[in-house]
Amino acid sequence: MAASSYFNVSRETIDRASLEALQLERLRFTVGQALKTSFYKRRLARAGIDSPDKIRSLDDMLRIPFTTKDDLREAYPQGLLAVPLDDVIRVHTSSGTTGTPTVIHHTRADIVNWTELVARCIVATGAHRGDVFQNMTTYGMFTGGLGLHYGAEAVGMMVIPASSGNTLRQLKLMQDFRTTVVHATPSYMLHIAGVLKQEGIDRASLALRKAFLGAEPYSENTRLKIQQIMDMDVYNSYGLSEMNGPGVAFECEHKNGMHVWEDAYIVEIVDRENLSPLADGDEGEIVFTTLQREATPLLRYRTRDLVSVIPGPCECGRTHRRLGRITGRSDDMLIINGVNVFPSQVETVLMGVKEVGTNYQIVIDKHGELDKLTVDVELYGKAFTGELASLERLRDRIAEQLKASIVIHPVVVLHEPGSLPVSEGKARRVIDRRPKD
Ligand code: AMP
Ligand code: ZN
Repeated sequence: MAASSYFNVSRETIDRASLEALQLERLRFTVGQALKTSFYKRRLARAGIDSPDKIRSLDDMLRIPFTTKDDLREAYPQGLLAVPLDDVIRVHTSSGTTGTPTVIHHTRADIVNWTELVARCIVATGAHRGDVFQNMTTYGMFTGGLGLHYGAEAVGMMVIPASSGNTLRQLKLMQDFRTTVVHATPSYMLHIAGVLKQEGIDRASLALRKAFLGAEPYSENTRLKIQQIMDMDVYNSYGLSEMNGPGVAFECEHKNGMHVWEDAYIVEIVDRENLSPLADGDEGEIVFTTLQREATPLLRYRTRDLVSVIPGPCECGRTHRRLGRITGRSDDMLIINGVNVFPSQVETVLMGVKEVGTNYQIVIDKHGELDKLTVDVELYGKAFTGELASLERLRDRIAEQLKASIVIHPVVVLHEPGSLPVSEGKARRVIDRRPKD
């Protein structure tokens, strides 16, 4: 693939001085939008910013307070909306939670801009018109499905909106439509590789050449393993619903870090403890400011994702900096088969069940290539002496309630009182047995 393949060459190869001038202009726009929301009007007033004119340089943004996931939840559903509702054409939320999710509204321009960012990512990997694209992430409120879908259509690929799950059907679609490019979570791609072997499907019956994998952390070794088993190129894709979803940062054909579109987002890496700015190469929490969004402007949004910027230019000619792999999070959020789960959600459900005692444990391990969530629960003495049938009913009821809250289906195991390990000091509620490599 020639290195000259871009979706928007002037934007993707813009020189850094022009990029910074564009960022400043767009930051002022964003502050102007933010001031239309009651939330930011109050917040920014405290920082002495009552008009976009108060932002004279990019450094001035350091005066702007951080925005957190809790801020977004408190603003649910429309506290951060900066345009009349009539101008909104779509709404998305973060994955996982059925409690109070974070909501992002989009105007038509927001969707057009997001689509371009995703299209740039796709073209950067060397995929193009003529490719057959099977999108195996969930369609719906989760941004992975529709986000990639629109971008792929803009590139001119033939899109198969397969959504997630039903692996045999996915494989049949790949064979029948000669799929060349797929989008999935890394764990699902590994699962597919396993099923391929198990069913004795010949790799040669598939036309696959590229996979875009993201939505959850994975290692370089996992990339290499998938590339080897599936004989295809794997590109890392990073995004989060608060920043639209996919299309935030993506690897180009050199596969050496993910270009983050800096004309759409200002990126800061800050110390995970004291939140002071860090230099390229240093690992910290990544913080984003939207630069183009009309409906839901976000200023200095703390992602809790830990990562570093890779110093130096990339051979592809794109001037937008690159992010390394996401190495972890600075909070306790778990990502289970691509779905965000907070341990506190599990606790809330369990503590609402009167038969449940005081000790429980969340265990995550692998079942084949997929993540498996087990919730071990101690019951009160009386509850445990019940009949087997009623214990089974209780177990199923707890599993249903958990599913309703965290979206994924856990295995619930009931235990006698006092049988789960008690830790001295801070309880160790989460045991993550997934291999790191
Ligand atoms: P959501 O808002 O539901 O789209 O979830 C976004 C979160 O998924 C991010 O904040 C990351 O923690 C995680 N995530 C997304 N893409 C990747 C990736 N390529 N590598 C590691 N974690 C990722
Ligand atoms: Zn590159």
